[in-house]
Amino acid sequence: MSAKFDPTCLFCKIAAGQIPSAKVHEDDELVVFKDIHPAAPVHLLIVPKKHIASLETAEPEDTALLGRMLALAPQLAHDQGASNGFRVVINTGPDGGQEVYHLHVHVMGGPRPWSRMG
Ligand code: AMP
Ligand code: ZN
Repeated sequence: MSAKFDPTCLFCKIAAGQIPSAKVHEDDELVVFKDIHPAAPVHLLIVPKKHIASLETAEPEDTALLGRMLALAPQLAHDQGASNGFRVVINTGPDGGQEVYHLHVHVMGGPRPWSRMG
C-alpha cells in the first residue's frame, strides 16, 4: 500500500523497485535495505512505502506505521548479525542531518569500532 508516491524521490523509487537496492525485508507497508554508505558493520534503512518527507511531516494517521518501523528493528538487526545491540536514528531536518527527505529509520550495529556516527 503506497498511498503517496513522489516520482522525484529516491526512496520512493527504491521502494517501488525502480532503483535497485540490497533489500532485506519487504511487506505491504515497509521496505528495508542496506545503507549504500554503511556507518557500521550492519546498517539498515527502514523505509515506509508511503512518501512521508520526514518525522516532522508525519501525520497522526501515521502513528501505527511509525510504531511498526521501530518494532521491526530488533528482529532485522539480529537477522543481519547485530547480536550485541544496535542504534536507531531518525535524522530530521537540516540541523538533524537529514539528506534524503523520505522518512527512514537507520538501524546500526555490529562489532565496534564503527566508521562514523559511532
Ligand atoms: P539521512 O542523512 O538520514 O537522510 O540518510 C540518508 C542515508 O541514505 C545515508 O546514510 C545514505 O548513505 C543513504 N543512501 C543514499 N542513497 C542510497 C541508496 N541508493 N541506497 C541505499 N542507501 C542510500
Ligand atoms: Zn519518497
